[in-house]
Amino acid sequence: MSRLPLGPAETVVDLAAIRANARLLRATAGVPLVAVVKADGYGHGAIASARAAQQGGADWIGTATVEEALALRAAGIQGPMLCWIGGPDADYAAAAAAGIDVSAHGVAQLDAMAAADAGRTEPARVQLKLDTGMSRAGAGRGEWAALFARAAEGERDGTWRITGIWTHPACADEPEHPANDRQEQAFREALVLAGEHGLRPELRHFANSATALLRPSARFDAVRCGIALYGLDPAPGQATDIGLVPAMTVHAPLALVKDLAPGDAVSYGHRWVAEHATTVGLIPLGYGDGIPRHASSPAAVQPAAVGIGGKRRPIRGTVCMDQFVVDLGGDRPEVGSDVVVFGPPGAGGPTAQDWAEAAGTINYEIVTRIGGRTARTYVGGLDEQDPT
Ligand SMILES: *Cc1c(COP(=O)(O)O)cnc(C)c1O
Repeated sequence: MSRLPLGPAETVVDLAAIRANARLLRATAGVPLVAVVKADGYGHGAIASARAAQQGGADWIGTATVEEALALRAAGIQGPMLCWIGGPDADYAAAAAAGIDVSAHGVAQLDAMAAADAGRTEPARVQLKLDTGMSRAGAGRGEWAALFARAAEGERDGTWRITGIWTHPACADEPEHPANDRQEQAFREALVLAGEHGLRPELRHFANSATALLRPSARFDAVRCGIALYGLDPAPGQATDIGLVPAMTVHAPLALVKDLAPGDAVSYGHRWVAEHATTVGLIPLGYGDGIPRHASSPAAVQPAAVGIGGKRRPIRGTVCMDQFVVDLGGDRPEVGSDVVVFGPPGAGGPTAQDWAEAAGTINYEIVTRIGGRTARTYVGGLDEQDPT
């Protein structure tokens, strides 16, 4: 998972923030916390994030793919671990040998897991994933009875233990959306049906970050939190603020300062033209590093900005692959000055949420896409050992 940075920008990940966020989420939810570190920990680094989350009291680690979970085990991450995406070729035998809970969303997938059972003495750990109304992954209502019957059969013959049953909400960031009630009701019905088939899973779970914070009735036996672990608000405007701290700050050195005369046009397509004389700065980051091109001006309603010398400096013109231009409004900060692209409030720049609003997306996408040529460094770690 190590990467070779090839540019001057730096992503600083505060592991103390991840630890504190895990502690806060665990205390707020009052049930075990599954710390979700898929997609390289939403851009924060899966291994370091998993370790920090565990240090903060996370009970489980969650990943999307089987491969992500196996990579964490290989890096020495121990303890309960759940993954939920595995194609027909996923290495279920390796997952079982590594004590990883895998998720099955159909009878065919259970059959593939049974076929991977060759010679193991311990039953595999399998959780059943149900579709309660998102129409994405998980067994649909019409398949629940067959899934539960096959699951119970494999439990009786010692192939696996059904350790969990779970589902995922579609509209958790809109707490008033009627789908939330409908999905919770469907999940409760599924649990009754599973019980009738003799299944007694220890972990019934429904909630992502937004549900964990906004819908106490749906916390069940565990909550799966990703975005909130990294300190970002899963449902902006819905009063979810419990004191989470954003863990990621992206910095770059100011690459160039230049004067613009009235009428000078900036970047590809000349989409921004200076009305007055001003100064502009060059930021050595672009969409090749995960900076959204949609945040360009004037495409964005409110263009994104960066922080230089404690002031907001808005983007001018189109974000390019490797660089973009910001308005310095006549100031002349030194070349090499620290540019805060985004970070926690108080870090001297905008937040990932500000960028999300400028680009018409969600904060998840802003942090998860950061990468490219940026170097990732960690602060706030507890261990001497390199946390990457
Ligand atoms: C990504 C994911 C989560 C975490 O969602 P957040 O909104 O980031 O908390 C939880 N469960 C599943 C199945 C996921 O795919």
